[in-house]
Amino acid sequence: MDAYKRLLLGNKAWVEEKIAIDPNYFPLHAGPQKPQFMWIGCSDSRVPAEEITSAEPGELFVHRNVANLVVHTDFNMLSALQFAVEMLQVEHIIVCGHYDCGGVKNALTRHDFGLINKWLRYIKDVYRLHRRDLDAIDDPQQRLDRMIEINVMEQVNNLAETSIVQRSWKKYGRPTLHGWIYDLRTGYIKEQACLRPGAKLEPIYLFDFWDEPGTEQKEESKPLGDAPPVPSPAAH
Ligand SMILES: [Zn+2]
Repeated sequence: MDAYKRLLLGNKAWVEEKIAIDPNYFPLHAGPQKPQFMWIGCSDSRVPAEEITSAEPGELFVHRNVANLVVHTDFNMLSALQFAVEMLQVEHIIVCGHYDCGGVKNALTRHDFGLINKWLRYIKDVYRLHRRDLDAIDDPQQRLDRMIEINVMEQVNNLAETSIVQRSWKKYGRPTLHGWIYDLRTGYIKEQACLRPGAKLEPIYLFDFWDEPGTEQKEESKPLGDAPPVPSPAAH
């Protein structure tokens, strides 16, 4: 049997299992989605978001990429983020990394991977920022584990530094941002970081949103020199 057919058979078995427990399972889950959580995880096949959190369909709005990165020019991630924050109005965004992450592990080498070098470069930048602390750890396994934890914390910061999140924090007091680490060796998730709405950020990344009605433009938020025209309130 072709290996892929196992998945289609698995689907049939899953449908039957769900219907046996509740004949209305699928009609009940076919309505509009209203998830409370956005999940940004690694593409690694060993870290299935719903499975490791016992979540049902409709509970997690999921975006996955190599090494669970939040890159401020990644329109795929940003589109999912904007949709989750503005349309779905999620209360929580979880960046979930995991130990033994191949993306992080390989970013710490000097190997040339071709195209993926460009993606791993963001992880190399995280290493450079924290090199002193990381290089002080002698044990290679512990150093890699710490790098994976730091990477998640940096991605949570990256989320907080988007205008999408900052605008929502200011207007609606949500979402809370979480950094989690999944331990493949035990199955447990560890809470690594949490940024609540209004958390203190590096000032250079703060937006003033003076284009919001009723907000006065401060001197430091005025564009300089040949700046582009004033953005509309809808711009990000
Ligand atoms: Zn990974």
